[in-house]
Amino acid sequence: MHAATDVDTERNERVAQLRRFVDEELLPTAQLPDTQAAFPHHLVQRMRELGLFGTIVPKRHGGLGLDMATHVALMEEVARGWVSMAGVLNTHVLCCDLLLRSGSEAQRQRYLPDMAAGRRRAAFSLSEPHAGSDVQAITTAASRLPDGRWRLDGHKRWITNGLGASLVFLLARNDAQARPPHTGMSCFILEKEPWEAHGAGEHAGYSIDELIDKMGDRGVETTDLRLHGYLCPPDRILGEEAKGLGRGFVQMMASMETGRTSASALCVGVGARCLEVAMAYANERHTFGRPIAEHQAIQFKLADMATKLQAARLLTQHAAQAKDAGRRADLEAGMAKLFAGEASREIAEECFRIHGSNGYSKSCEAERLYRDALSLVAAEGPAEIQRMVIGRTLVRQYQAEQKQRKQPGPLETAAP
Ligand SMILES: Cc1cc2nc3c(=O)[nH]c(=O)nc-3n(C[C@H](O)[C@H](O)[C@H](O)COP(=O)(O)OP(=O)(O)OC[C@H]3O[C@@H](n4cnc5c(N)ncnc54)[C@H](O)[C@@H]3O)c2cc1C
Repeated sequence: MHAATDVDTERNERVAQLRRFVDEELLPTAQLPDTQAAFPHHLVQRMRELGLFGTIVPKRHGGLGLDMATHVALMEEVARGWVSMAGVLNTHVLCCDLLLRSGSEAQRQRYLPDMAAGRRRAAFSLSEPHAGSDVQAITTAASRLPDGRWRLDGHKRWITNGLGASLVFLLARNDAQARPPHTGMSCFILEKEPWEAHGAGEHAGYSIDELIDKMGDRGVETTDLRLHGYLCPPDRILGEEAKGLGRGFVQMMASMETGRTSASALCVGVGARCLEVAMAYANERHTFGRPIAEHQAIQFKLADMATKLQAARLLTQHAAQAKDAGRRADLEAGMAKLFAGEASREIAEECFRIHGSNGYSKSCEAERLYRDALSLVAAEGPAEIQRMVIGRTLVRQYQAEQKQRKQPGPLETAAP
């Protein structure tokens, strides 16, 4: 057993501080019937006060400057309360990571202080109506005008934070002939008026026509975004034109490691709440003269739920630690999202089963948790895509090791 370090202690203290907000404010609001729920601005305001919009942003840019391992512990706790509020933060933090990793210094200074404070919410936009996993199939076009500005036209979809965001980090094709296609794609920083469905003035050229009516995750808005001649100055290409043009795909994929690791924490948070709710119900509900928790079949369910939850948490922490060590972590992040995404769905289903027919009632938390868990199946990449990432990385690693082994060592090449 390893001894707790100062970092572990600080992490635990931060989670404990957050738990009060989660128990007293997030959980009761999450369970309001969908029909009563307006967008919970007051909760977003509280999350701003708690610094949650700037967890991984360095202190010099106004953030908390936390490591990724602490960030995922905090995201798990928020998601335990309400996955939608963790969703508000998740893509926003992914955009902070994009700026930190691939933005120019001027872009970091322009956006990060407001983003870290939550004064500006950010959205991350790859998906389109006909293209999700196959990102290189996007068709949103960027064309350069004679005055150097870029004109954006196209249709984006499934944008978390789409309406409330004032910044959208958006992938578009600046060169349709480029081969491979991703070398002709750039990430544009689209500025917009928050909560404004139709852009006007300097933000003219966008409209949001659809708030997607989702099965679960109903506390955060997910939208489409139509671009019809939106004009973007060249300094709003991520990394600026000289370094960012044609690099958008690579930049956004690199930051998705952070997004996937963080999304795994959301899965763990939903799973943790399912286990809590199932345990409480199993001890309260009686059949055949005793609490159902005392039937072995129910204990086996609880045992499987707890084991999967702990494995998902450890994989998520492992991916976060790989990122903290400064390594590429697509393998670890892919494994975490694959396992945690499937585990949270399975745990939510067992929680639902333990509730018997009560679980099928809209007033039952298990019902909402099941719908919320399903929101995480496709977001940040479904299981099939994670398997592709993991498999491809493993094979590449193996082939690289084999090649290195076959290279002659100094003794073999030395002249006799
Ligand atoms: C709640 C929610 C929030 C979201 N937020 C955002 C956001 O903020 N920004 C954003 O850009 N997107 C967002 N998305 C979209 C999400 O990223 C996509 O849904 C995801 O990438 C999958 O794309 P798709 O739905 O188009 O599925 P498709 O790519 O059409 O895939 C359909 C099915 O085929 C499988 N599949 C695809 N290709 C292969 C293959 N080669 N081999 C085997 N199986 C394959 C997939 O796994 C899936 O099961 C969100 C989605 C949800 C549900």
